[in-house]
Amino acid sequence: MTKYPCTNIHLDKIRENASQMREKCAASGVKLAGVAKGAAGDLKVARAFLEGGIEQLADSRIQNLKKFKEAGLEAEMLLLRLPHPGEAEDVIKYADISLNTELKTLKALSKAAITKNKKHKVIIMVDVGDLREGVMQDDLPDFLVEALELDGIEVLGIGTNVGCYGGVLPTSTNTKVLVDLRDRLETTLNCKLPVISGGNTATSILLERDELPRGINHFRIGEGIIQGTDVTHQRDLMGFNRQNITLTAPIIELKNKPSVPTGEIGHDAFGQKPEFEDKGTRLRAILEVGRQDVRPDGVKPTIEGIEVIGASSDHLLLDVTDSEKELEVGDLITFELGYGAMLSAMTTNYLYRNYIDSESE
Ligand SMILES: *Cc1c(COP(=O)(O)O)cnc(C)c1O
Repeated sequence: MTKYPCTNIHLDKIRENASQMREKCAASGVKLAGVAKGAAGDLKVARAFLEGGIEQLADSRIQNLKKFKEAGLEAEMLLLRLPHPGEAEDVIKYADISLNTELKTLKALSKAAITKNKKHKVIIMVDVGDLREGVMQDDLPDFLVEALELDGIEVLGIGTNVGCYGGVLPTSTNTKVLVDLRDRLETTLNCKLPVISGGNTATSILLERDELPRGINHFRIGEGIIQGTDVTHQRDLMGFNRQNITLTAPIIELKNKPSVPTGEIGHDAFGQKPEFEDKGTRLRAILEVGRQDVRPDGVKPTIEGIEVIGASSDHLLLDVTDSEKELEVGDLITFELGYGAMLSAMTTNYLYRNYIDSESE
């Protein structure tokens, strides 16, 4: 029996997306790391990636990679978020590859790897404009000279990330910067940098448009596989299953009420001063789910005519006056989830998880 409120996680559709994304990448010579962080490192989602043929699992959290390893998932583990020097031992233990931009951290990783008699692989992130993590391009040659000398560390190559902080869109121009940099560095430093990790879901649009610069041979994709969406470009990925993680919550109160509160308006529980439009008496539903479960601005009811009007910690308020379906207390409302809403719904401890998998039914 399904318990509510819950997320609905369509493992079969995620598996299909994983397989399709892997094939599309492979057709252009791109190796795909499946990024599990959008599903907060959910083990079953990670397993669905592998069943879809993906061989590299990536997450921003070392504890998720640890969970994958301890559950016996057989994949190369890639740590996405830059580690800090103090966690070098854990990084060596649970990640096969990590993304890096700081020499102090690389030195700590080198030391830990030598102690464990391991070779830890790293990809050096380069900034191409989004201004989250990345060595500045001018600093890269000196950085690499030092990085290449570290024992216990194998520099696989360089990578970049856009779309996440600055919202900078990937283009063939800002992506090709990496290929040019790599070519120059290989010549001047007389080294091999075989991997160029081009980007995330946002960058996959270049593959679709056949605009991916030759030489880019690695992608790190999560959202596109999990939800079939690309939030940076505000679009659905063509041909992929979409909305494979949704949210369902029951109605706990359904009443006609005025649309404007009575009394002096102060600040709400989150410090905001709410404003109301007087639409007269409306039929309002309260759902058994709130801000502690999901980011309310990213949820979209699947029933036509329902509007989300607000949320407190434990309640989501809907105007259901124009709902195309007649509703009663106890009825279930399902929502599509934007990236931020999905992330919050998978991170909370409060929601049940309803896994759906036609293959194992
Ligand atoms: C989150 C993240 C990704 C994956 O992003 P999606 O949009 O989910 O595909 C890739 N690389 C890095 C460095 C990330 O932090």
